[in-house]
Amino acid sequence: MTDLDTFARAQRAIAECRRIAQMSEEPGRITRRYLTPPVREVHALLRNRMQALGMAVVLDAAGNLRGLMRPAGGDARRLLVGSHIDTVPDAGAFDGVLGVTLALELAELAQQQKLRLPIEVVAFSEEEGARFGVPFIGSRAVAGRFDPALLALTDREGVTLHEAIRSFGLDPEKIPEAAIGEHSLGCFEIHIEQGPVLEAENLSLGVVTSIAGQSRFSIKFVGRANHAGTTPMNLRRDALSGAAEWIAEVEALAKRTDGLVATVGRLDLHPNAGNVIPGEVTLGFEARHPEDSLRQQAVKALLDCASSIAARRKLGIESICEMDQSAVPMDERLAAFLSEAIESLGMPSRRIASGAGHDAMVMASRVPTAMLFLRSPGGISHHPDETVRTEDVEAALRASLKFVERLAAEFR
Ligand SMILES: [Zn+2]
Repeated sequence: MTDLDTFARAQRAIAECRRIAQMSEEPGRITRRYLTPPVREVHALLRNRMQALGMAVVLDAAGNLRGLMRPAGGDARRLLVGSHIDTVPDAGAFDGVLGVTLALELAELAQQQKLRLPIEVVAFSEEEGARFGVPFIGSRAVAGRFDPALLALTDREGVTLHEAIRSFGLDPEKIPEAAIGEHSLGCFEIHIEQGPVLEAENLSLGVVTSIAGQSRFSIKFVGRANHAGTTPMNLRRDALSGAAEWIAEVEALAKRTDGLVATVGRLDLHPNAGNVIPGEVTLGFEARHPEDSLRQQAVKALLDCASSIAARRKLGIESICEMDQSAVPMDERLAAFLSEAIESLGMPSRRIASGAGHDAMVMASRVPTAMLFLRSPGGISHHPDETVRTEDVEAALRASLKFVERLAAEFR
């Protein structure tokens, strides 16, 4: 396989992402939520590609399109390779989709090389949670982690998940059948980094070590609303000033703690008037770190800090934990194979934690899972300006091929 061939394949994988980007709910913008009409167009395109490769194609009951390539005399156990085809509103062309178009190029290369490792390409139906507010519906089904209670979720139009699946022509009762069994030896996802780290280090590729754990809190500071003109500064109980002091502490702690990201992204202010001292403010806070103990330590320190600020300023304080999700490590052995694959191309294998959730995180709860990141120019994602460099896409394809060659040898 010459380099020219992989470069042409990288160009084709990119062109297909651009083509799929045209399949949208909104003209001029890329918006393709779970089980909406453009999803059918994407399925038709991918199905053609899969069938041309001789794959057995199935649309499972959660709407995941799956093509299985089973080489003659191949092992019964297969490697799942894929990513998601749904998007956030006004998305870029590559988040998720590139992991599917590259998986198809990879499967074709494996076929040409007569690798005996069966590959199942999966176009996960739902990862972003943009329609029903809950992410990873597709990969939950494949991992056998789908909770039937989710079927009662409703979208903005009041359509339940159950109804949406039915009107797409699928049977929600059959979702358990979408789960992989003993015949799956692992899962592999290729995805854009969606962040600036690889670009800052001038690297094409990164090996994901883990998906960061996440804490989300709602924190309320309660003071006393009063007249902004008549209440002297020393007699105020200003909830927003207390919150502002705390927000500065959140940033300071995150800046001095390696690997920690912490954000106050939401403020609800009451009464929210220019001439009234703020009486109540509720903050939406989140923190992420690849190591759970360090994340929990940081969160505890910040909650203690909020309490002492509140006490000093005679404010009430309430906090509600909305999410405490553990970090999910990727499989060490597969990550080592992936590192070797990158190094065999003469590139450094940067190990990197993912701050965002991915289908790989859900799949890792079921099978050994590896994830490859490629550079996001400008660190831009979830935005129409999201892009990729052809040479990075080619590097991802070449490294992925080395990786499956290694797996094929390992599981012969
Ligand atoms: Zn994604």
